[in-house]
Amino acid sequence: MTQPGSSLSQGNTGVSRPSTTTIRRGRPVSQSTAPRLLIMGPQGSGKGTQAARLAEHLGMPAISTGDLFRANILLFTEFGVQAQSYINRGELVPDYVTNAMLRDRLLKEDVKGGFVLDGYPRTAGQVRDLDDMVAEFGWTLNGVIYLRVDTEAVTERMEHRAIVQGRSDDTPELIAKRLRIYAEQTAPLVDEYRERGLLVEVDAMGDVPEITNRVLAGIGLNWLANTV
Ligand code: ADP
Repeated sequence: MTQPGSSLSQGNTGVSRPSTTTIRRGRPVSQSTAPRLLIMGPQGSGKGTQAARLAEHLGMPAISTGDLFRANILLFTEFGVQAQSYINRGELVPDYVTNAMLRDRLLKEDVKGGFVLDGYPRTAGQVRDLDDMVAEFGWTLNGVIYLRVDTEAVTERMEHRAIVQGRSDDTPELIAKRLRIYAEQTAPLVDEYRERGLLVEVDAMGDVPEITNRVLAGIGLNWLANTV
């Protein structure tokens, strides 16, 4: 059965773990016990917000491929140049570009104590590439948080975000296109992770802190289940 000491443990980052959940303090974290989590859900499900809050709680980076692309575009890097036209059209950037950019990021020092990956994988090819990277680095994926929302709420949140952030790909047409691509290419991946026993489904309707608490409670249980 599960052992309490194998739950999410105090990190080497010096940042306190949450105390309000099933996550417990235990052994010092080692490379093999660093939490490596994915967060999935449609556009407007609050993925970015929850990924950042979760990462802060756990004292590790939230890595958003969308943010990485936007930073690369601003800096005119090769990845940015390759990605820009796809992003402007509301389409997925080809896997070879996305995977290469993510690989670079995962090689950075701050990722060693674990990470929350937001917005990746979005295609079956990316699931395989992530599996390969995880195996190559000697890691394990510990959980996939799936934020469940209703379609109407998603559209409302997206409209709000379009006003607040002024993103060029947040026009009504491009929002609809991205949601369609999500339904076709990304939603089926949730089942893949469910079959692997990694999925933590969270009701993502409600207040932001309330949803964070559900996420934390969910991964506490999931972590125990996956470290037997
Ligand atoms: P959203 O989830 O609202 O689409 P993101 O900020 O996550 O916003 O991503 C913005 C854009 O960056 C996407 O529309 C897509 O063009 C590109 N992108 C982000 N992540 C990926 C990915 N994993 N694979 C391919 N393209 C991606």
